Amino acid sequence: MERVLQVENLCTEFKTERGMLKAVDGVSFEVREGEMLGIVGESGCGKSVTSQSILRLYDEKSFVRYTGDVRFHDESLLTLPEKQMESVRGAKISMVFQDALSSLNPVFTVGDQIMEAILIHQKRTKAEAKAQAIEMLNMVGIPDPARRFHQYPFELSGGMRQRVMIAVALACHPQLLIADEPTTALDVTIQAQIMDLIVDMNKRLGMAVMLITHDLAVVAETCDRVIVMYLGQIVEEGRVEDIFDHPMHPYTMGLMNSIPKLDTAKATRLYQISGTVPLLNQIPVGCRFAPRCPYATDLCREEMPGLSRVTQTQSVRCHYRNEQNGGFVEEPPQYEAG
Ligand code: SF4
Repeated sequence: MERVLQVENLCTEFKTERGMLKAVDGVSFEVREGEMLGIVGESGCGKSVTSQSILRLYDEKSFVRYTGDVRFHDESLLTLPEKQMESVRGAKISMVFQDALSSLNPVFTVGDQIMEAILIHQKRTKAEAKAQAIEMLNMVGIPDPARRFHQYPFELSGGMRQRVMIAVALACHPQLLIADEPTTALDVTIQAQIMDLIVDMNKRLGMAVMLITHDLAVVAETCDRVIVMYLGQIVEEGRVEDIFDHPMHPYTMGLMNSIPKLDTAKATRLYQISGTVPLLNQIPVGCRFAPRCPYATDLCREEMPGLSRVTQTQSVRCHYRNEQNGGFVEEPPQYEAG
């Protein structure tokens, strides 16, 4: 499969009164045609900042600095002039945000908002754009699309609004869809419907998808590969089966252990990773996970581990999981139920 996106050593720093704060630190990964890549981690781990940096959505003039490289096919997005960047956003790479109500414009009908995307990026007459917008509403499963076209966002349910957001994002047939917590504000039934829709679009249109989520079950069901982020860095990367069947980083193991299990003979308390993600101005020296890691040693507290390939398909950022020891020198530590 052809590579659609390649991110190389991406760093995103915000200018603040306390100096530059690095929210994304040396992140590298790629996304291939038709692939679904999941990005997981707690809030504050840099998942959304990474995805928004790809499209340079933060205001570079005033408060952000990007370094590294983001290549979309042959174009280097971090250095592309703003005018050309406008033809990438929404046309070649689209984004769906978690809160459709605040992302849609309340004073325009949903039809107008889909048409706007089509008219900006494609050579269409208004009549053609309207027909295409109604077709998009139909494609994302909105009943009676010709009537819904004339409605305002407040007239639709949360699930319908999220479908409209997806229709806007897909209106110009992007090659990459970035879905940032697309189901967070929805109830579980609607969540499942929206995820089915995204997977269906991924399969039918061959569009690559970057899915940013807290929901590990959704990743297990829908994605091909997974990236686990912690405090601005990738700590583990691999195929879904690698990460879910044999997580190697203690943080990933903690995340996996915190998934409720229905098949255990007797109920156990849910595991909880101790502590919280530190603030960006309090990043620990050495391994960033050391203050929360039950296996931390002096080496961990002094030296930052690199991201090493441990198997052909799995990379881990941990001193005790690397190519030399194959990741299996010690038995993976077992977490006790908290
Ligand atoms: Fe834990 Fe040390 Fe590995 Fe960091 S390097 S994850 S502190 S064992």
